[in-house]
Amino acid sequence: MTDRVYNFSPGPAVLPISVLERVQKDMLCLPGAGASILEISHRSKSFEKILDSVKTRLTRLLKIPAGYKILFLQGGSRLQFSMIAMNLLKGSGKAAEYLVTGSWGKYALEEAKKEGETRVVWDGKATNYDRLPAAGEYRSDPNAAYLHFTSNETIQGVQFLAEPASNSTLICDASSDFMCRPLPIEKYGMIYACAQKNAGPSGVTVVIVREDLLAKSADSLPGYMSYKKHAEENSLWNTPNTFGIYVVDLVCQWLEEEIGGLAKMEELNRRKSALLYDVIDASGGFYQGHAQPANRSLMNVTFRLPSDEIQEKFLTEAKAKKLADLKGHRSVGGIRASIYNAMPIAGVELLRDFMQEFRTNNAK
Ligand code: PMP
Repeated sequence: MTDRVYNFSPGPAVLPISVLERVQKDMLCLPGAGASILEISHRSKSFEKILDSVKTRLTRLLKIPAGYKILFLQGGSRLQFSMIAMNLLKGSGKAAEYLVTGSWGKYALEEAKKEGETRVVWDGKATNYDRLPAAGEYRSDPNAAYLHFTSNETIQGVQFLAEPASNSTLICDASSDFMCRPLPIEKYGMIYACAQKNAGPSGVTVVIVREDLLAKSADSLPGYMSYKKHAEENSLWNTPNTFGIYVVDLVCQWLEEEIGGLAKMEELNRRKSALLYDVIDASGGFYQGHAQPANRSLMNVTFRLPSDEIQEKFLTEAKAKKLADLKGHRSVGGIRASIYNAMPIAGVELLRDFMQEFRTNNAK
């Protein structure tokens, strides 16, 4: 424990201490199972209980209405980029619409293009993806196969805190802000998130999909690529990531029992991110935020310093204070503090104090 740093990694990322302790405590023998979670069948009673539990908890936390299925898939969110288009675009005779608000939206679009016709309804490239479209800035066609958006651009640090307008089926990549706030699930046709940022370890992706969309999965699809197949088989068509699903269940339990639900989580996330944005705004330009203030992310705080040299010094001194993994993504540069749900407020306060001190010592 003494070596443990405040981990600002963009993902795989920080997990709640109580979840890690529980995993450790039950590692040799999952209560009632006679063996560890790593050793039991995905068809055992013990795992069935975990699968039921995680679905129940997700349904409660997100208030998922009737008529949706929850799936646990592998292949990360990248595979979803393809699966969405394979199931809902290919052969539909329609075009799929994409809001491109950063790198991940662009990657999702690239994969969809391989499967069918796409249309970019808005692209933030002109201002280097520092903002989101304002209401009325794009047109969404009611005849589109779907409208895809990325709720939080992990690299650029811009986040939708309300759903963008859509006249067709709304599909969301919520990989880096899943469960950071309550969501009106009924607005979504489908929402998906790889777990390794806000919900658990890498290797499992949560997909919440409206049941009527399952009928669109063509029988000719490879089995693994079919949402219909996974829904019919309760995510047990092939062996799922049993350990990953188990940890997602524990994270949901932490959200319910220790945090007190998603409204409380949002309140905390707003407090945490404000600590850093306030330092940026009061720094007289020493720290330059990437995202425009109205579209700032609660999860990934992105900013630059006056020069590359000062930036390197910042990272070295931060590391010495156990503030780890603050380097921005190679495509954007600068600093990125990923402060997902499980980042304790004490870690953000320590970073805030360090940022203030560093500025005092290094501003001209
Ligand atoms: N979408 C977003 C918003 C992401 O942040 C990431 C991972 N950084 C991905 C998709 C890709 O996820 P994976 O690596 O699990 O395929």
